[in-house]
Amino acid sequence: MLKLCFATQNPNKIREIQARLQAIGSPIELVNLVDLGCTEELAEDFETLEENAFQKAEYVAEHYGVSCFADDTGLEVEILDDAPGVYSARYAGNQKNSADNIDLLLQNLEGKTNRSAQFRTVIALIFNGKKYRFDGVAKGNITEKPRGIDGFGYDPIFVPDGYETTFAEMSLSEKNQVSHRAKALDQLIEFLKIQG
Ligand code: IMP
Repeated sequence: MLKLCFATQNPNKIREIQARLQAIGSPIELVNLVDLGCTEELAEDFETLEENAFQKAEYVAEHYGVSCFADDTGLEVEILDDAPGVYSARYAGNQKNSADNIDLLLQNLEGKTNRSAQFRTVIALIFNGKKYRFDGVAKGNITEKPRGIDGFGYDPIFVPDGYETTFAEMSLSEKNQVSHRAKALDQLIEFLKIQG
């Protein structure tokens, strides 16, 4: 089985990716940062999702000598000129608090009828020393109020196109049918299949 490290400290992302790998019967054994003894916070110093994703994946590949991937995700809201985007984690400040981020976003959208938004994920892969990139987008709308208790981050205020429920009102497998992260991951898996 191919061993691949997922360079994230976010247990929600690990759960989602693990569930998707199981659902599609993928022959990848996920290695976590904890398994490698990596407990330091991974820096995200750049202004694009791509650069941040590669910064995390390259750091882990270089320091721990493994093939590895990392994701960076942003919520892009059309009427806010695609904010918070790459700044999604610290939209309401360096404490990176999801409830505060949601409050601020809903405040900034008060009275706005255009609620169109999209989640965008970039996965950076370092595989046998080479770099590869995969993208996933989920389009939808921002609700007036948070709904649901599952998921994480901005999930309680995002309804994907074609659905009535927010990501936080969906099961993990339902979110994985349409999510930005699952779409990028599916491409990564297709790529790895070609590698044999
Ligand atoms: P990062 O990819 O970990 O840097 O995430 C940036 C911000 O987007 C954080 O506030 C996350 O909580 C949030 N975020 C990332 N992925 C998702 C998702 O799938 N749903 C909702 N929020 C997310």
